[in-house]
Amino acid sequence: MKIGFVGLGIMGSAMAAKLVKAGFEVTVWNRSVEKCAPLAELGASVAESPRTVAECTDVVIAMMASPVAVQSVRDGSDGILSGMSTGKGYMDMSTVDVETSMESARLAHEKGALFLEAPVAGSRKPAEDGTLTIMAAGDRELYDSLSSVLEKMGKKFLFLGETGNAARMKLANNLVMSGVLTALCEGIALAAGSGLDTAQFLEVLDSGAISNQMFRMKGPLIAANKEFPTAFPLKHMQKDLRLALRLSEEVGQPLYATATVNEYYKAALALGLGDYDSAAISLVIRK
Ligand code: NAP
Repeated sequence: MKIGFVGLGIMGSAMAAKLVKAGFEVTVWNRSVEKCAPLAELGASVAESPRTVAECTDVVIAMMASPVAVQSVRDGSDGILSGMSTGKGYMDMSTVDVETSMESARLAHEKGALFLEAPVAGSRKPAEDGTLTIMAAGDRELYDSLSSVLEKMGKKFLFLGETGNAARMKLANNLVMSGVLTALCEGIALAAGSGLDTAQFLEVLDSGAISNQMFRMKGPLIAANKEFPTAFPLKHMQKDLRLALRLSEEVGQPLYATATVNEYYKAALALGLGDYDSAAISLVIRK
């Protein structure tokens, strides 16, 4: 199976590399062309446009920043859909809203192609290790035919039914993640502001029922309050909060805490912290 990969950011570059190293024939494209070089060194081919990627492969995987980025590689004369035809597959692994996924599905079907939305949970390291959680929805036939591909990128897979359900699941997941991260930052701020040893505070958290991997990874960085090497860009977390809040409006579900968390993230964006790791939300919280 020939695989195309469009979008070589933090996640896409690591996921595409896993596929090349697993022996798949992979063709890549990225807006900033220099990000293709490490993949080419591993053995991937580099295409001139998303359309060319689709033309010369059986399935195109996209891993884009946002709904706007998805549209910009999907639509138009150089877009993925221009190169799609009957029998091909299009799998969008970006975190987007339900409407974007449904439009991608509709447009792919118009071309006779199959569509899958497949957002992921897990950050830079799980992408490098191939241990992501993959939430898929859409055309079951495509999901089944891609099992050997998905297995190289993830360790946990869920097929959630009709297109839109994976977007919904991913947004609900990130709502929890952003809330928990914000609570961790507030806890560290309170501990530090009260004169406590933050290392001991993290030790207490780690020994109880709310112990988790994210606290262990990000806690020491937040406590140090200065270095935030980017695994999950803060601007993407705010995008996910925005989309989760919009979904909550559609289904009439109040999300009081999430709305407040979103205000923190908006404040962080206004301070120019969008390209920092989402843990940099601490810089807004801690006085
Ligand atoms: P990233 O490093 O910011 O990469 C984003 C990708 O989108 C890059 O390839 C970028 O191209 C491209 N892009 C952005 N705007 C574009 C436009 N207008 N036209 C064409 N290409 C555009 O993001 P990431 O961390 O890999 O995340 C990718 C997706 O996965 C996002 O939806 C994110 O929410 C989701 N996600 C991320 C993580 C994480 O921990 N990082 C975890 C789970 C899910 P350039 O290189 O040219 O800028």
